[in-house]
Amino acid sequence: MTLHPNSIEARDVAYHMHSYTNARAHQETGPLVIDRGEGAYVFDNTGKKYLEAMAGLWSTAVGFSEQRLVDAATAQMQKLPYYHNFASRSHGPAVDLAEKLIQLAPVPMSKVFFTNSGSEANDTVLKLLWYRSNAMGQPQRKKIISRLRGYHGVTIASASMTGLPNNHRSFDLPIANVLHTTCPHHYRDAHEGESEEDFATRLAAELEEMILAEGPDTIMAMIGEPVMGAGGVVVPPATYWDKVQAVLKKYDILLVADEVICGFGRTGKLFGSMTFAMKPDIMVMSKQLTSTYFPLSALMMNERVFEPIADESNKIGVLGHGVTGAAHPVGAAIALENIKIIEERGLVANAAEVGAYMQEQLRTLSDHPLVGEVRGIGLIAAVELVLDKESKTAFEKPGQLGAKTAARLLENGVISRAMLDALAFCPPMIVTRSDIDGMVSTLRRTLDEVAAEVLS
Ligand code: PMP
Repeated sequence: MTLHPNSIEARDVAYHMHSYTNARAHQETGPLVIDRGEGAYVFDNTGKKYLEAMAGLWSTAVGFSEQRLVDAATAQMQKLPYYHNFASRSHGPAVDLAEKLIQLAPVPMSKVFFTNSGSEANDTVLKLLWYRSNAMGQPQRKKIISRLRGYHGVTIASASMTGLPNNHRSFDLPIANVLHTTCPHHYRDAHEGESEEDFATRLAAELEEMILAEGPDTIMAMIGEPVMGAGGVVVPPATYWDKVQAVLKKYDILLVADEVICGFGRTGKLFGSMTFAMKPDIMVMSKQLTSTYFPLSALMMNERVFEPIADESNKIGVLGHGVTGAAHPVGAAIALENIKIIEERGLVANAAEVGAYMQEQLRTLSDHPLVGEVRGIGLIAAVELVLDKESKTAFEKPGQLGAKTAARLLENGVISRAMLDALAFCPPMIVTRSDIDGMVSTLRRTLDEVAAEVLS
């Protein structure tokens, strides 16, 4: 492909190194330039319209043109465009947001610590838990358990907790003290004929074996997304979180719920922890917190977590952790307005209702020759593609079929995301049944086009 000299595409290739992109292939293909947004839709720089069926990166609850968030940002910019929270400094939006999050928490929580991205929040989790173990006179208690295919970010600790090969390979990760247990994906990881409950029982037993093998007094916490997102939208099997929590309780191991995707309604309840009756000691939030109109993340911790950390900072003289943009007043003002909109417009109920419809409609594709599994809950789903339903396999190169189908779906006007051979759908929480109808019929047509090419 030749890019027109001085076009935005050519300048992008010349100057812009992209996240999560094959840097060499990008020099050939150039970017897709998105120019503007309207509700659940975005338009590229040729004016072509797309349903943004991924809400950006699982992140835009209120869609791409919410004037109230623009107004909240503008008002805050005019009043106090920046301040920080080091050395006991504070400001209204930070306090209001922290109070609001504690009020919304599904279990009693004590304090909110603000950061700028999900990755930073999860790095902070690991650091604060190390600090806490030292504070409690347990320097040997430094390990955290996460899961294969779990996603927690890309900074050094969070990428280590992420259980995906591309986040480790050639980066010299994971770091020490991070353990990965089995992914709870029934379609891929259950034994032949194993029920969801039996699979959950086996995973809990494997977790317990890992804890015993490592030494229970060396493990601080387990981290998990209520529903795994970037690892392929994995809804845990029935009874999974109950059984896992029973094991953690037995060995006095903390639970960290990474609510970065699930938080603020995605699974049909305000938090994924509510959907699965999880009782986390720490909750990590970002993305739909501000609809990602501004980078902001937060972790909420209970008294058990906070108290020893407070003691240690008193002993040392300061908690030596925090970032310049923490509790940014503009981000906090946007988050407060975003949460207000979610509440006023009943967007969590919409995610439950339209989400159930999306799940039902996507499942009508199960009879398609390319569809191995349709899975999801609320407004998050994946359609896993296979060439052979019996062996559950696609092309020899994993991801090839997913990438091909996602590219064709994009041409047909729907933005999804290929995670290997599974396509993810996670539209803004303002979507309607008619948006879903358009999405599913375009997907069926696309699958037919791809099937005509790849199935002989
Ligand atoms: N946790 C989860 C569950 C996520 O989905 C993500 C982002 N996809 C992160 C953490 C990392 O967030 P960020 O990209 O903002 O660093």
